[in-house]
Amino acid sequence: MITPIIDEKAIERLRAMINGVQRIAITCHKSPDGDALGSTLALCHVLRRLGKDAVVVTPDMAPRSLEFIPGVHDIVVFTKHELRARHVLQEAQLICCLDFNAMKRIDRLAEIIEPLKTPRVLIDHHLGPEDVFDLAISFPEASSTCELVFRVFMQLGLLKFMDRYTASCLYVGLLTDTGGFAYSCENPEFYEIVASVMRRRFDRITLYNKAMNTFSADSLRLQGYAINEKMELYPECGVALITLDKEELERFNYNRGDTETLVNKPLAIPGIYWSVFMREDADKIKLSCRSQGDFSVSDICEHYFNGGGHKNAAGGEFDGTIDEAVQVFHQVLADLFPDVTEQKTEEQQ
Ligand code: 5GP
Ligand code: MN
Repeated sequence: MITPIIDEKAIERLRAMINGVQRIAITCHKSPDGDALGSTLALCHVLRRLGKDAVVVTPDMAPRSLEFIPGVHDIVVFTKHELRARHVLQEAQLICCLDFNAMKRIDRLAEIIEPLKTPRVLIDHHLGPEDVFDLAISFPEASSTCELVFRVFMQLGLLKFMDRYTASCLYVGLLTDTGGFAYSCENPEFYEIVASVMRRRFDRITLYNKAMNTFSADSLRLQGYAINEKMELYPECGVALITLDKEELERFNYNRGDTETLVNKPLAIPGIYWSVFMREDADKIKLSCRSQGDFSVSDICEHYFNGGGHKNAAGGEFDGTIDEAVQVFHQVLADLFPDVTEQKTEEQQ
């Protein structure tokens, strides 16, 4: 039995909002991942089956590694088709905001959406959503936005429109946001949702391999290099740090998505419960953090790196060089583990 966790009033408001309009835009955070793409495309498929003119608009391109998700090529990408993206958002009568909690996460789409009077619905599982939505379906305890989109379909009575394309979109988010059913999926109902999605009989094994275990040779070599040469361990603190600068990324013909799962790898080492990955982007340092247990990386990312996310998976950004970002990271360690850091300093003297 899957509990209807979304408030009935919220469901009825959403039903009325959808029934009352024809043109619906759906958007998600920049650098979209499997959950962002899976949830927006699943919602889009079902709304289209309801006869709506639904369009997914993303701030930037999906990584090549996720191009297999059904419907990905119909997405209007702002960085590629700016005018069309503007048009879709400005003409929409309802804007669905999926898998993000703060307008800055949608980059330049925020400038377009913020002045519009169009009603906005949030469906998301990040902590602390901004108070800028007309209706917020926000459950930080949910595994993924795909789980929430499934629950929305269920409570709206729309599961009959969940065909195997929609089901495979949802499966991608359920799978990738839990690291292949490894974390954030403690609620037994999660598996009932997986079971219900799987009844639509898509090719699960192929999808699993594409979503979880497909890397280019360059990407595998880059990850091998990063682990072999760039992984710093701080065993006294249970922490691992990997950094990759522009030159290193170029050397391995880096494409977006190539380092997607790298940050998880150091957590395989017994005693390491916090892993940090810093990557030099065009104009900033991008951070990814993962943790095990009670240690909240979303707090760290929020306080020190202008970001956020979930307790065990979060990210942020740093304006400056990678060396400066590492210095801040060392300061964080000094703040969190003063005893260890003091001991180190004494040893060095
Ligand atoms: P990833 O490390 O896979 O990029 O992101 C892990 C989680 O942290 C995702 O849920 C993502 O939405 C969130 N996240 C990543 N980068 C940022 C960021 O710069 N700001 C905020 N607020 N959240 C982020
Ligand atoms: Mn997500």
